Amino acid sequence: MQNEYKLKELICEIGRRVYNKGFAAANDGNITIRLNDREVLCTPTMVSKGYMKPEDVCKVDYEGKQLAGTKRRTSEVLLHLAVYKARPDVHGVVHCHPPHATAFAVAREPIPKCVLPEVEVFLGEVPMARYETPGGQKFAETVLPYVKDCNTIILANHGTVSWGPNLENAYFNTEIIDAYCRILILSRQLGQVNYFSQDQTRELLDLKKKLGYDDPRFKNEDCDLCGNSVFNRGYSEGVPQPKAKPSTNGHATPDLETLVKTITDQVMASLANG
Ligand SMILES: [Zn+2]
Repeated sequence: MQNEYKLKELICEIGRRVYNKGFAAANDGNITIRLNDREVLCTPTMVSKGYMKPEDVCKVDYEGKQLAGTKRRTSEVLLHLAVYKARPDVHGVVHCHPPHATAFAVAREPIPKCVLPEVEVFLGEVPMARYETPGGQKFAETVLPYVKDCNTIILANHGTVSWGPNLENAYFNTEIIDAYCRILILSRQLGQVNYFSQDQTRELLDLKKKLGYDDPRFKNEDCDLCGNSVFNRGYSEGVPQPKAKPSTNGHATPDLETLVKTITDQVMASLANG
């Protein structure tokens, strides 16, 4: 039997990390732990995640009905419950608005694969769920097409949701996706983003398998490992298309900036000659 008070303290500790990292402004974000097959611990609404006390933590059932706690449960708990119902292996979920990952959510720029080894191993492909007004059941269901095959999802125009076998692991996935998005934005400013080759990716996926992690690409041996999304089938309203990511090794879109510069140079040259 898990010590309920200790788990409430852990929720407060992860809340402090989320808040101090700047992943949740004001009272944003919510955190849950699966307590047993009837109950889930969750954060209260309208309380800063950086300043929670164990007494503030609420308890709900798997339909979102509040069972205990003096404060009202978060309105976004249905999103967490959708994850727990689909994934019996998951025991902790973190939802917040980390700025770099949320920038990708706002730009609706898909998260590229095959850029950083740790991201391939710990996260793998990170899909983007369609936008829905936060709070209700319809919002919670936006993650269902992808939830079985990943551990982190970008919520379009909203933020991120990450999960894991325990709460700290769920939080780490949030840290990894935001650090990754930050590095992508920075490296794009310096120049182009370079990708692993198919062989290098295969090597990483072999390593990932040896370390005991799962990846939907294990089952699709012949798929383009870095190109098309293995989640394409889940997108009902069109797959997010890369706009910010320049081409490198032939499987991405042409670099628009280079194209524009080439055309501009030609026009300028013909004007100069005329
Ligand atoms: Zn939110």
